[in-house]
Amino acid sequence: MVITLDPDAPEETIEAVLREAAKYPRVQTKKYVFKGATQTLIEIHLVGDTVRVPTEPFEDLPGVRSVVRVSSRYRLIGRHDRGQQRFGFEYNGVRFDDEHVNVFAGLCAVDTPQHVELMMRALAEHGVVTTRMGAYKPRTSPYDFQGLGAECLPWVFELAGKYGIRVIAMEVTDARHIDEIRQALDQTGWPTGVMLQVGTRNAQNFELLKAIGRQQEFPVLYKRGMGITLEESLNACEYIAAEGNPRIVFCLRGVKSNLGDPHRNLVDFAHVPVVRRQTKLPVCIDPSHSVGRRYAGPEGILDIIHVTGQGLIAGATNVLVDFHPCPEKALCDGPQAMTLDQLPFFLEYVRRVRNTWQEVVALHREQLAARASHA
Ligand code: PEP
Ligand code: MN
Repeated sequence: MVITLDPDAPEETIEAVLREAAKYPRVQTKKYVFKGATQTLIEIHLVGDTVRVPTEPFEDLPGVRSVVRVSSRYRLIGRHDRGQQRFGFEYNGVRFDDEHVNVFAGLCAVDTPQHVELMMRALAEHGVVTTRMGAYKPRTSPYDFQGLGAECLPWVFELAGKYGIRVIAMEVTDARHIDEIRQALDQTGWPTGVMLQVGTRNAQNFELLKAIGRQQEFPVLYKRGMGITLEESLNACEYIAAEGNPRIVFCLRGVKSNLGDPHRNLVDFAHVPVVRRQTKLPVCIDPSHSVGRRYAGPEGILDIIHVTGQGLIAGATNVLVDFHPCPEKALCDGPQAMTLDQLPFFLEYVRRVRNTWQEVVALHREQLAARASHA
């Protein structure tokens, strides 16, 4: 049973709920706090033998917003109230929620200090404080470049600090990589933050998910499995949360199907509102791995850009996207990397589509209000 309190509920409400729950000996309580930009939401979960626990005594308590029996699916990441307010989290000064837009533009794979520096300098020039940098690369072929690994971390983090980058999305493919990242941050004085990326190939690597969930230092960018259902991917996020780390951004990146040809994957951004409806997780889209090449439409605008718009206009607030100062020299995924001269257009495009999203939401609200006043 999930008891959601009114935002900013006082301590007395929490105590009253715990007192009521204590009347049932085989029921344990767990408190979860979701900190938003302006408000804090508290959920109290009743676990154990709750079948005979009535909902009414909790519903009658002042300050309780809702009481929902959950069958356990998405107990932690799921949305259990009908309120419009959504929460998300803050990490290293950057907000991840339904309001703030973050563009993680960067290299698919770290290669040289020169390329990393050119990338980060371009981001700093445009006020972008989030990037992607792959150090551990899970590749289809064992003969392909596997990433520079731990050795590149100190200089990548130092360059990030130099250019004011606050969060780097970085894939980990083994629990040991989390320690390597922490050590490199310790060694360099924590000049930046890291969001641990779970790649699509590890979407159901439950031991890795649990290891990522057991630590709370780094938030998580979880990429949906390319060959599993959305529900299976959301359950994988529940694994991370169940171990103690609810700071998860859910990233759509396309699914494997030749029906998406000539794109690398079948773009799945129609699932943006589904994830927003079913869960509390902020949603990210990865247009680069979805499309996979710099194809362009008749106007010359890249398909990667068009699908970015599709995700944003559906309510996504984070974009993970490949750029490279010199894509011909990239050691991984060069054909899908945009060049630095395309960055200003891309960022302006993101800003304008996001504004349009806000206009659409406002228009919808006006229509609802007009209909209500005629009723
Ligand atoms: C990546 O973002 O670098 C990556 C490997 O993506 P995915 O796991 O979605 O294939
Ligand atoms: Mn890639």
